[in-house]
Amino acid sequence: MTLTATAMTAQLGPSMSREEQWLAPYAQFTARSAGRRFVEPPHPYRSAYERDRDRIMHSAAWRRLADKTQVFTGEPGEYHRTRLTHSLEVMTVARSLARSLRLNEDLVDALALLHDLGHPPFGHSGEETLDRLLQSEGGFCHNRQALRIVEEFEHRTHLYPGLNLTREVLDGQAARVDKSRQADRPLLEVQSVDAADSVVYDSHDPDDAVEVGLLRIEELLEVGLWREAAARVAARYAALEPRELRRAVAHELIDWQVGDLIAGTAARILEQGVDSVGSVRRAGWLMAPGPEIAEPKQELETFLLQRVYRHPDLLARRARLQELLAERFEHLSRDPKRLPAPWQSRIAMSGLRRTLCDYLASLTDRGALTCDLQA
Ligand code: MG
Repeated sequence: MTLTATAMTAQLGPSMSREEQWLAPYAQFTARSAGRRFVEPPHPYRSAYERDRDRIMHSAAWRRLADKTQVFTGEPGEYHRTRLTHSLEVMTVARSLARSLRLNEDLVDALALLHDLGHPPFGHSGEETLDRLLQSEGGFCHNRQALRIVEEFEHRTHLYPGLNLTREVLDGQAARVDKSRQADRPLLEVQSVDAADSVVYDSHDPDDAVEVGLLRIEELLEVGLWREAAARVAARYAALEPRELRRAVAHELIDWQVGDLIAGTAARILEQGVDSVGSVRRAGWLMAPGPEIAEPKQELETFLLQRVYRHPDLLARRARLQELLAERFEHLSRDPKRLPAPWQSRIAMSGLRRTLCDYLASLTDRGALTCDLQA
């Protein structure tokens, strides 16, 4: 007789809910999920949020992140981060926060993998172009686009459109669209991914910028947070090569920020008597950098904006790529028959301009550079 996985594991010990034993009362328990739009039977050994994570990871949109710009694209040596490696870094940092604060790590995984899924090719410059092209129809926003992808474009089964993710994952992504317009705070799992995103890009963008030659490591010493992290590294190690030092400082920056977030969030949870998801929603934003980090982090971000994201070399390249994307749009709008068939069939529902942008947003950087040959 063949035993099922559930029957087999039942013989290993008494049935226990890992979440009931481990999660804090303010965490989002899987058993309290609002479920999926299209009801599905539970999986025998994976939680609803584990299934969400896996559905995202098995999607075509996820794999395309491997060739989508984070900040840099097509640089020699391919050292720099892509959207995919960035998302994985965000997942591991968010998971560290979640584990320390006894949050739902499975939910955090799904949210982290989803958070940048809607990015078009060429990073924020691609997004700006699509947003401009769609001004008359509500604009383009990568956070909202991630929801369109998982609710409409991805195809798993004929039973429903999209991936049929749980309400908490969809609401968590929706909370990223416009933070200022929300009356309630999002779940702490959502706040973890938001905080992890910031920890990760503030650590890896300086590292990548030096590697691709936009910055010298000495220039980073102008920034208080980097200088302090470098001093901490120097106190631990006698002498490091510049490249080793740079990586060690990037790692120190992550460790320092994550430690600060864990301690600060735990303190705010205690101070505000947060003991349920309901009280998380009513509390102030709980997962935020403490006073030691907040201001110098702002200084680092201003430095990155002025010296990296607005570097003349990067701006020149971005302008060329934006022009190319706009040309693709104009070309396809004159001859929509060149769109791949599945996208053509969406024109009647979404309109031509939105459909063209949905198609262009789905492309990788390489796909956008060559799509006139494929279409
Ligand atoms: Mg991100």
